[in-house]
Amino acid sequence: MSSQSAEPEQTALPLQTAAWRVVGEVLDTYIIAEQDETVLFIDKHAAHERINFERLMAQGVEVTGQLLLAPHTLELDPDEAAALLQEQALLRTLGYDLDDLGGGTVLLRQIPADLPEAEADASLSEIAAHLQRGVKDSPENLRAELLHTIACKAAIKGGWHTEAAERDYLVEQVLTRSDLKYCPHGRPICVTLTKKQLEKQFKRIV
Ligand SMILES: [Zn+2]
Repeated sequence: MSSQSAEPEQTALPLQTAAWRVVGEVLDTYIIAEQDETVLFIDKHAAHERINFERLMAQGVEVTGQLLLAPHTLELDPDEAAALLQEQALLRTLGYDLDDLGGGTVLLRQIPADLPEAEADASLSEIAAHLQRGVKDSPENLRAELLHTIACKAAIKGGWHTEAAERDYLVEQVLTRSDLKYCPHGRPICVTLTKKQLEKQFKRIV
């Protein structure tokens, strides 16, 4: 499932070289910045997910893994477990390593280095569901889909508190890179409101 061709039209962002100011964050989800005469609303989860995705893609054939200090035992639906165990080689290239304990139970020994351990089990179940659905996908598309899942699970979530330094980093990345217009699922990362649009709303101009 490629979202590339289905991407909606992007509203023109201000010149990337112009100075910007991070104003703050609302609803623990949207970072507000201003640049030139435009107010920018940045979805922090979408931005972080895309940054993660691009970094994972850039790692090439093999995503770096981290060994779990204590392996996780997961009780899965037997069909999901079978789908995972059939794709062991692919999973290893994504940073996962697991063993079959039989009867739908798997032992998860290693996960992608970018992924917080708390997201390990959820990411693997989601990948299992993808693998069950995604048999018709080309290997490249399937791999990209699975990297989307990892990027999403490794990203800060809407509703979480974000430190000022993290906000500054996300805004800087979004405004200085040309590959961060949409999250890997095709949702926009940045929505803008211009001075003119505001003035119209307040009926300062017609
Ligand atoms: Zn996501």
